[in-house]
Amino acid sequence: MHRLPDTYHALKVDAQKCIGCTHCMQSCPTEAIRIRNGLAVIDKKRCVDCGQCLRACPAKAIFVEQDDLDKIKSFKYRVALFPAVTIGQFPENISENQIYDALLKIGFTHLYELEQPIGFLKDSIKEYCRKDKKARPHISTFCPSVVRLIQIRYPSLLDNLIPRKAPHDLGAHLALEQLQNQGAQRDEIGIFYITPCIAKISSVKSPLGEKESIVDGVINMNVLYNKVRKNIRTTDIPDTSDRRETLTRDGILWSLTRGEARHFGERSMAIDGIHNVIRFLERLENEEVPDIDFLELRACDQSCAGGNLTAGNRFLTVERLEHRAKRYESSSKFKDHPIQRLAPKLKSKLISDPIDAKPVFILDRDREKALEKMSKMQRIICFLPGIDCGACGAPNCQALAEDMVNQKAKMSDCVFLQQTWQEENKISTSKALKNMEKKWGKDRFKADCNKRGRRNEGF
Ligand code: SF4
Ligand code: SF4
Repeated sequence: MHRLPDTYHALKVDAQKCIGCTHCMQSCPTEAIRIRNGLAVIDKKRCVDCGQCLRACPAKAIFVEQDDLDKIKSFKYRVALFPAVTIGQFPENISENQIYDALLKIGFTHLYELEQPIGFLKDSIKEYCRKDKKARPHISTFCPSVVRLIQIRYPSLLDNLIPRKAPHDLGAHLALEQLQNQGAQRDEIGIFYITPCIAKISSVKSPLGEKESIVDGVINMNVLYNKVRKNIRTTDIPDTSDRRETLTRDGILWSLTRGEARHFGERSMAIDGIHNVIRFLERLENEEVPDIDFLELRACDQSCAGGNLTAGNRFLTVERLEHRAKRYESSSKFKDHPIQRLAPKLKSKLISDPIDAKPVFILDRDREKALEKMSKMQRIICFLPGIDCGACGAPNCQALAEDMVNQKAKMSDCVFLQQTWQEENKISTSKALKNMEKKWGKDRFKADCNKRGRRNEGF
């Protein structure tokens, strides 16, 4: 069992590879990145694990810290807990039996598609939405990136969040319950979650709305995909369909856009893509959204099919899963199934602890000081050029002004102001150059055709 420090983030910057090109900084929706001494630095308090920077980095300097697959060997019972999206990564000519068989060959002993208990979760969310009258619309807590975003940027919407755990948590409890019922001891069981995204890694390592996760390790889906492909057999494939007996149509579609929204409320909406989500939350906070009962918000385009650790094309994944789902029953058909025997225990695991506010978009917790800083910031902005060039190491002029009032940057960080000061003899040319070298490193000012980053010119 793990209880790691709060705000764990799996994304790291490799200082050897980072060229300080600012692509990551410009792509970050929460302005969590700055360039310091020529290198990208991520502010952990602002990061929501959306993975935009990972995609934007042309030097592959941003990487995902992950558990070693060999870790599974330290357990007698090795559970692969994977979302249905995993199956959607593979082309149609590779069957479910082949994929399951390859997973067993890699070394797992038990395989669970984590959406098996989705029926319980669906019923529990329905009941919560029916009874809870304090906030509308109810917002799904499925996507950890969105929950973090609400915690740090829209804390006034915390009451709208539905306090229910994520399907991978529930799937892990189901797997554990079933194995322990068969006589396995807890310390013999290793549960490994196959994740489509960075946000889920963080939500396992520092869980949202619960004290600890029962998941023992996280394996990135793209890493697993390559291993599975290498182990696909074309002959003598055993039938593994009994392992999917409790999988449902609703479960397979759950992590796709409208996977949840289709089940709840008279009026529901599904929004995917972190920038779309932010724009919508702005409107919601400003009370510009008419009567909506249920909101499904997902950070990735096409939801988990477009997760930043997936291997396949997101549109093809959606099509494959929709096609696959047609072969399965709806979860409402499972009323007499053996899985129902576990219902009382699973229901007790469904409810998450309250989710706290972690506001980082305020200038100061003290209202008076915040107002003071705000007026100082506005004065600073008057002197900045307003072209958001990023040469100061902040994503835009407003962010630089904010850094300044928080003592994290200086006026001289702005290259335009430095230029003006030189003209007015307020600063020497050598001092101005030193300032620039401090921010960007000496190499940036040399003529060098082999300079790191040259291949990215015009990127
Ligand atoms: S993961 Fe997202 S929020 Fe975090 S630093 Fe990267 S772009 Fe910003
Ligand atoms: S939409 Fe899915 S894959 Fe993307 S961050 Fe949210 S949970 Fe992860």
